[in-house]
Amino acid sequence: MDSVTFRKHGHAIVDWIADYMDHIEDYPVLAQVEPGEIAGQLPDAPPGEPEEMETVFNDFKRIILPGMTHWQHPSFFAYFPANTSEPSILAEFLTAALGAQCMVWQTSPAATELEEVVMDWLRRMLGLPEGFIGVIQDTASTSTLCALLCARERATGFAVNKCGFQDGSTQRLTIYSSEETHSSIEKGVKIAGFGKDHLRLIPTGAEFAMIPEELERAIDADKKDGYLPCCAVATVGTTSSTAMDPLRPIGEICGRHRLWFHIDAAMAGTAAILPEMRHILDGVELADSFVFNPHKWLFTNFDCSAYFCKDSNALTSTFEILPEYLKTDVDRRVKNFRDWGIPLGRRFRALKLWFVIRSFGVRGLQQKVRTHIELAKEFESWVRKDPRFEVMAPVTINLVCFRYHPSHRTVAEEELEQINKGLMDELNRSGRMFITHTKLKGKFALRLCIGQTNTTREHIKRAWERIQASVSHF
Ligand SMILES: *Cc1c(COP(=O)(O)O)cnc(C)c1O
Repeated sequence: MDSVTFRKHGHAIVDWIADYMDHIEDYPVLAQVEPGEIAGQLPDAPPGEPEEMETVFNDFKRIILPGMTHWQHPSFFAYFPANTSEPSILAEFLTAALGAQCMVWQTSPAATELEEVVMDWLRRMLGLPEGFIGVIQDTASTSTLCALLCARERATGFAVNKCGFQDGSTQRLTIYSSEETHSSIEKGVKIAGFGKDHLRLIPTGAEFAMIPEELERAIDADKKDGYLPCCAVATVGTTSSTAMDPLRPIGEICGRHRLWFHIDAAMAGTAAILPEMRHILDGVELADSFVFNPHKWLFTNFDCSAYFCKDSNALTSTFEILPEYLKTDVDRRVKNFRDWGIPLGRRFRALKLWFVIRSFGVRGLQQKVRTHIELAKEFESWVRKDPRFEVMAPVTINLVCFRYHPSHRTVAEEELEQINKGLMDELNRSGRMFITHTKLKGKFALRLCIGQTNTTREHIKRAWERIQASVSHF
């Protein structure tokens, strides 16, 4: 493609994106297609001859787009958000155009140094302790895996890196998180070689947060049985209900028993940019590592996970490699981020964070996040006022867990699940909004999470009206 053609299509695609953003509410939030419907429209074999960009782009609109769920629709309330913003999109254009592979300082000094700077900006924005040093990972799953690997190596004096688990010389290690922890912890525990059987799921209280006394009891019991307790993961904002594990007591227990203390604040961490929400990170200074995802709730498109650690040597000692072909003269004076995570190759992700933080300003970001939290509170108040509904968990930030519960008769738990599942499916089939569900201590609950960049009170109000109108069908 020559630059004249590139310019033509580039402009056309930017125009299309701008129109898409203007008219996103004309699309159904949840893709209304059946499994196989998209693949069925695509040829089995790749084209032998070049095709015109116009043809490809038309097929994008005709075939691909109907199979997309529109995460940037302001009535997307499902899962947790993965929001974006115009500055982030523009920066991604540039990242793609530069096509840099930012594995070491020399492969793009600006990428490394900008990453250092914006990560320290984030550290300040969240009020994380001064010694914490940040690095961008692809996802929170990867960030947590890094933490688990560091914990493993610190606990064993780097013996697993050297000998593996295979020669039986290392003690059996145990990991702790709450029963409400994210699935990525279990995945990381498996990948890091601890084995799922050595992950202890600590009970939670009525508000779905870890009970610290239960954690200490489990650690004591494991010690007695000859295990070496290695790492505890606390969650700030669990995925089911945004429950807040109490960081300070958990951190103190980790300190007493010399466990690595990792904090998973994948979505909720963003809330700490608000001074009035800083309390959710009370005790964070006790942590060895901390992760939150700007790609969830900080207007930076997927992927961008911010991983912070107290002792970066623990990280680099765990991951360091030094093949001859990657040695440079400045190695002693710079950061080579290849040693700060799992993959060698790294995208230039700091650019979009820089664009976002500068374009919104910290105050602009705060205002968006604060609005989302206020809207969740308001939605909660509507649910509480309607006797046909019940709130299922404390609303700690931007997520409301609730369900329809006909009050004129007693309804068995199973039937409540069926009714609410039916209600959710009907709402999602309408294409006008998208919510998901979870189970809280065995009880089915609908989740409405507010975090899309352009969600306003009007969207929340319409969602509530739709929910209220739909219950008459059940
Ligand atoms: C979303 C989420 C994760 C996983 O995030 P990825 O970046 O998709 O790996 C982990 N923990 C919590 C609490 C989450 O909400």
